[in-house]
Amino acid sequence: MLCYFHSSLFLQPLKIHKPLTIVCSTQPKPPPRKRPTVDGQRPAFRNRKNYGASRRSIQKTLKQEQVTFTTPIPDDPIVGIIGGGMAGLACALYLEKRGVRSTVFDTGVHGLGGRMGTRIVDPQPLIFDHAAQFFTASDPQFAGLVQGWLEQGLVREWQGTIGELEVGGHFVPLPSSPPRYIGVNGMRPIADSLLSQTRMINVERPCWISKLEPFNGMWHLSENGKPCGKFDAIVIAHNGKCANRLLGSSGLPLIAGQMKRLELSSIWALLAAFEDPLQIPGEGAFPFEGAFVRGVDSISWMANNTKKLQGSHSNGPHCWTFLSTTAYAKRNKVPQENIPNATAEKVKAAMLLGVEEALGLPKGSLQKPFYTRIQLWGAALPTNTPGIPCIFDPLGRAGICGDWLLGSNLESAALSGISLANHMADYFQSSGGRPEEFAVGLRNEFQPLRGHDIGQFPGLESQTQTQMPTQQSYQLAT
Ligand SMILES: Cc1cc2nc3c(=O)[nH]c(=O)nc-3n(C[C@H](O)[C@H](O)[C@H](O)COP(=O)(O)OP(=O)(O)OC[C@H]3O[C@@H](n4cnc5c(N)ncnc54)[C@H](O)[C@@H]3O)c2cc1C
Repeated sequence: MLCYFHSSLFLQPLKIHKPLTIVCSTQPKPPPRKRPTVDGQRPAFRNRKNYGASRRSIQKTLKQEQVTFTTPIPDDPIVGIIGGGMAGLACALYLEKRGVRSTVFDTGVHGLGGRMGTRIVDPQPLIFDHAAQFFTASDPQFAGLVQGWLEQGLVREWQGTIGELEVGGHFVPLPSSPPRYIGVNGMRPIADSLLSQTRMINVERPCWISKLEPFNGMWHLSENGKPCGKFDAIVIAHNGKCANRLLGSSGLPLIAGQMKRLELSSIWALLAAFEDPLQIPGEGAFPFEGAFVRGVDSISWMANNTKKLQGSHSNGPHCWTFLSTTAYAKRNKVPQENIPNATAEKVKAAMLLGVEEALGLPKGSLQKPFYTRIQLWGAALPTNTPGIPCIFDPLGRAGICGDWLLGSNLESAALSGISLANHMADYFQSSGGRPEEFAVGLRNEFQPLRGHDIGQFPGLESQTQTQMPTQQSYQLAT
């Protein structure tokens, strides 16, 4: 039996029944059946609580014909990984460790990393982490990976005070343990450096894979009609609408069905640079570098990126990242690629007001930022999870990795990528002869995910969630 230990989770093989349809050869496809079911059975989600898309839309997805590859797996297989965030990169790295070649495709124009976004605004430059802010490492395997990044100088411990800020300026520092980590030059440079010493990984960026087609025993990938290569297996290392569209007619109904069940929150990010340090009346040095905000409708997190990334000696412009609550973003959601000016102005004003409320400052007293940028993360964080490290369909030779399979943070994304890489490498080693042993996660149920609006930080749960003994707390503005 296959069995991968991950914290308290075990990857267990699922039973694959007779495939619905055989595609992927040079032979013409058989005509579609009228009311196909999956593996000749009724879909497994019947009567099941579903935390994602509607049952109807999942049923529609499951009605796709299943691709089944029958060609032998070559001795030197190559994997196409669609998505160059933490999960896709970790998957590529660990495939290489197992001697498997891959190509990572990513849409990023400025760099890899996806939601490990760092924005650098010239000429000063102003630097902001505008999605992932910091991370913790609770799993020994991930902690080992982070140790390597520390030694390479890619990450360091964030020593600055972080805590919980209650509306009105009531601040509770969080304990300094467990350690929190940040990219030395921001989050994105970690992602851009991860593959620098690899030899078996090719990166294609910016590239938006828009079609997956099984043909002649291989997956053919393309970007708006332009061929991007053929692969023995594929990894979907992204999620949201884009993944649903890509998988919609791919011939991977079970993979597509699981992806459709995923629900995602939205978050607005406001990047603001101030000429002078933010002040609180009566306070000397500003009392924190990062804070989870409570009781304010528009703000869930605020962090001084200049202090975080450049330390206390920096006296240049003061760059802050403010992140909204998911509830506020849900109520003020617009297409993220095309934010109307009026919405951007409204959200910016509401978030700056929220900062004043959080800090307990009089209305209108916050210093005016000289630079602002507003961005909507329309598919920010997963709110439900199948709680399995990875998903793999051995008949279609396709897998999924991503944060949402285990949680909502960078650690989950990395562990998911590692797990899928090892699983696929084992599958390749088996020569593909016993597919039923390698099917995982194709029918797991989803459960809701809890945590902060910007993710889960084991050991740094909200005081209200854990009911920990109250830390020393104080009122900022008096
Ligand atoms: C506002 C915000 C704050 C957060 N704060 C924290 C935090 O403080 N700590 C923490 O640990 N986590 C945080 N997170 C969560 C963390 O960022 C994610 O868990 C993690 O980055 C997810 O990695 P991933 O590889 O699963 O997905 P992603 O990072 O989303 O990577 C997917 C990649 O695939 C690419 N892609 C998509 N479609 C295609 C396509 N068709 N072709 C090619 N490429 C494609 C995307 O461009 C992207 O680069 C935060 C997230 C957000 C949005």
